[in-house]
Amino acid sequence: MRIHELAKKLGIDSKELIEKLKGLNFPVKNHMSSVDAETAEVIKHEVEELKKKEVEENVIEVDFPITVKDLAVKLNMKPSFVLGDLIREGKFFTINKNLDEKTARGIAYKYKVNLKKKLTKEEEVLRHQPGDLKGRPPIVTFMGHIDHGKTSLLDYIRKSKIADKEMGGITQHIGAYQVGKDKGSITFLDTPGHETFTAMRARGANATDIVILVVAADEGSKPQTVEAIDHAKAAGVPIIVAINKIDKPNANPDMVKQQLSKDGLVSEDWGGKTPCLGVSAKTGQGVVELLDLILLQAEMMELRADYGRPAQAVVVEARLSKGRGPQVSVLVKEGKLETSNWCVCGLYWGRIKAMHDDRGNLVRQALPSYPVEILGLNGVAFPGENLFVVPDEKSAREIVKRRQEEEEKKKVSPSAHLKLEDLYKKIKEGDLKQLKIILKADVGGTLEAVGDALGKISTQEVGLVLTHKGVGAVNHSDVLLAEVSDAIVVGFKVSIDPQARVLAKQKGIEVRVYQIVYELIDDVKAALEGLLAPEVKRTFLGRAKIKTVFKLSKMGIIAGCVVEKGKISRGISCRALRENKVVFEGKIQSLKRFKDDAREVLEGFECGISIGYEGIKEGDVIEVFSEEIITRRLK
Ligand code: GDP
Ligand code: MG
Repeated sequence: MRIHELAKKLGIDSKELIEKLKGLNFPVKNHMSSVDAETAEVIKHEVEELKKKEVEENVIEVDFPITVKDLAVKLNMKPSFVLGDLIREGKFFTINKNLDEKTARGIAYKYKVNLKKKLTKEEEVLRHQPGDLKGRPPIVTFMGHIDHGKTSLLDYIRKSKIADKEMGGITQHIGAYQVGKDKGSITFLDTPGHETFTAMRARGANATDIVILVVAADEGSKPQTVEAIDHAKAAGVPIIVAINKIDKPNANPDMVKQQLSKDGLVSEDWGGKTPCLGVSAKTGQGVVELLDLILLQAEMMELRADYGRPAQAVVVEARLSKGRGPQVSVLVKEGKLETSNWCVCGLYWGRIKAMHDDRGNLVRQALPSYPVEILGLNGVAFPGENLFVVPDEKSAREIVKRRQEEEEKKKVSPSAHLKLEDLYKKIKEGDLKQLKIILKADVGGTLEAVGDALGKISTQEVGLVLTHKGVGAVNHSDVLLAEVSDAIVVGFKVSIDPQARVLAKQKGIEVRVYQIVYELIDDVKAALEGLLAPEVKRTFLGRAKIKTVFKLSKMGIIAGCVVEKGKISRGISCRALRENKVVFEGKIQSLKRFKDDAREVLEGFECGISIGYEGIKEGDVIEVFSEEIITRRLK
């Protein structure tokens, strides 16, 4: 194969190829030199690798999303070229439309540019090098059905701790507390329940390392037990089961284990993976063993924190005290939090004036997994929000100012979560590999049946996962779980709680309720196959052939045309065709007969058309059509 042929194949200039080959220690004489097939293969591979490396190194920093226009500027290209590239991929944009990161990168790659996300000021300040990793205590949350004994167990552990450690005094309620054992410490979050847990996750905090699922030995697994399991699983947090109230005469731990194995938690002594332990918050039986189990689990998890970096903590509780201002309880996640640190926390900032631990002691420093209450912030943040230590007051002010602006923007357009309608697009773009569904039904029998039917639907590209299923109305916790797992909520013959409805609307979570089972199944199927996407019905209205193209300083590129069929009207949708291939889609922006604006021009007449596409050429055809969007009606 000749060098010039190979160059063409590689999409580069012969000269460039010869230069590159020199660099690769493979000198050739000129573009007519020839190489054998095997060598050509090797060269091809090497040159492609080289090209990749060149692109890697050719970094341009941008913000995502980026408009077509801005991307073109960064790439030093004409916007029409970028639009053309997009059209070749079947994507129709206008120059002021935003491109997502993936699409923009793809385009840039063609021009040998590696787009990199520009770090925001905030990210730059908060960035740090990993350093001093050391072990830290586990953070534990109690979950389970109401009245199964979460609060009692927490209380028992807290009180026995005071007895053990002859600390005396009253523990302060600061949202979390720590228990020290000779084998290690454990931090307990004081606000039990899976709703709080998932609400915190929705704010970006994964504060819990281990979940203790409390199940009453006399009542067994209940709807909220199952919710708790699914919430913990969705977060990927390991579960230890505490079968509580074993002091009761009608306690039946085996029944509990039996039920839990159906919910996917098989006890270790039954050959499964879940540690299960009988306890009593009343007599204290099993509590020491429970603490040991937690420490064992924590050891296996090798929990680490970076003690050397600027501190980061998560808010567990916050309140406004009359005399002292905002009192914010936090759990330190990384680094050492110290008095006099400057910090930002959600939309607030400040300098730590004082810190108290869970016994009310004044402390100057808090290490990872330690709960402390801090004074000095200028507002009450939400549980689950992060607190970051920043270098100085200026950074703190700037970061919060920018966050407040973002917050304003968000109010205008709340972030959209997954919708069935745009599912197919996401699947096709490879952004979605799993469709997560939270399924609610009126009774257990139908729940199983619908769940099974849904479980059978999946395509090659996407699998279907039931993140949670339960009996009863769609509730607040379902919507929270959907928010953090990017799931959709599907109900069968159930209602939606008012509170859940409000939250779903606020957060843009899709909740669909059905009365007929095959409609439910059909919709999910259709969504996976892209049949739910709104359909655009086009009706051909006219065609014009471009005879000449000229530029007007005020109007830009104008196509001088003759209308060959139908009529052309201002403002309607159009596309430009070149040799029967679509090169542009848009709207008729201006329409002129001689020097005058025209509303429409009929067959046989000449006119000047602008469609806002600079790449238009003589011989192209402009087709106009009406568009009607037909969305499939869904019940
Ligand atoms: P929570 O809703 O899960 O926080 O449950 P609570 O801790 O409030 O307990 C509910 C009820 O169960 C209270 O009346 C407790 O006294 C009782 N209880 C909790 N744990 C035990 C236990 O181990 N044994 C007995 N007999 N009663 C318990
Ligand atoms: Mg309680």
